[in-house]
Amino acid sequence: MFMHVQRLINEIVPDEPDPAAANALQEGLGGQFGEMRTMMQYLFQAFNFRGATGKPYKDLLYGVGTEEIAHVELIATTISRLLDGSPRYKGSPTKPVDEPGKGGATPLSIALDHSNIHHYLVGAQGALPVDAAGNPWSGSYVYNSGNLVLDLLYNVMLESTGRLQKCRIYEMTDNKTARATIAYLIVRDQAHENAYAKALETLGVDWGKTLPIPKTNAERFPEVKKLLDQGLHLKQYTFSADDMSEAGKVFRGAAPASMDGGELVTDIAPPGFPMDIAVERPEEFGPGLDPELLALVQATAELELKDAEDPMAAANAEKTNGAKKSPAKKK
Ligand code: MN
Ligand code: MN
Repeated sequence: MFMHVQRLINEIVPDEPDPAAANALQEGLGGQFGEMRTMMQYLFQAFNFRGATGKPYKDLLYGVGTEEIAHVELIATTISRLLDGSPRYKGSPTKPVDEPGKGGATPLSIALDHSNIHHYLVGAQGALPVDAAGNPWSGSYVYNSGNLVLDLLYNVMLESTGRLQKCRIYEMTDNKTARATIAYLIVRDQAHENAYAKALETLGVDWGKTLPIPKTNAERFPEVKKLLDQGLHLKQYTFSADDMSEAGKVFRGAAPASMDGGELVTDIAPPGFPMDIAVERPEEFGPGLDPELLALVQATAELELKDAEDPMAAANAEKTNGAKKSPAKKK
């Protein structure tokens, strides 16, 4: 099972909205070599893993796969932040749609001029599970042959291609929000090149001077340099809440995918960064809670709070009413 911690794996650095950068980042989310694929590929390889003697490899796949869930979360949130407010609409929040002919009567006109119209038309200035050309993410990207060496080889190829594409996206935008997330993912891709390359080394492969791919530590990108100085390319997380992972038996010793050497280390999880909730966007009818619906939400919250404070009274009320168990009471 998986637990969720309400923190982001890396910081979202504030900057101006940038819908073009948001669309470039869609490739890193829902593209053939994006975070949705890495997440699914490693988790399916872990779910289908055979052979008890190979547990440390299974645990390594689980650790990286779980981290990729957090990367999907990070890049999707980054895309949302880059889109949010990009129409620069300053309409009245109590009158979501201005009267035609008045100033600001086409609050979403930006959708016709910038990148992916679906960011405004299908969603409400949020990320989509598609690539930068709008193609939907596909399960057929996922590679899981059941042959450990072959799967690990594909994983090195996947991390390397992902890293190559992110280095290219870095060069497409100077937006600080976009670059901070791209830089983090470039360095973590290098850590994952290390993870799978190390696993293959333990299975007899000699990497010589092949890694990292692309052939740079990317230290010329200042945001990347900062993370390299912290050794983020040499660390792998197990995300094992009960600390049962044996991934550290594989991920240790000299780093294969590092141009200046270094020793590999494992940890349970990174400390993370605070998450915040996006503002409402009346011009997108998002979230669409009018005063009547808001009153209902408020009433439900108060009822659940009352249940939580007085579980006995709530249980008795349930017996009488035959009502369904309120999720708030599980606390
Ligand atoms: Mn990733
Ligand atoms: Mn990765």
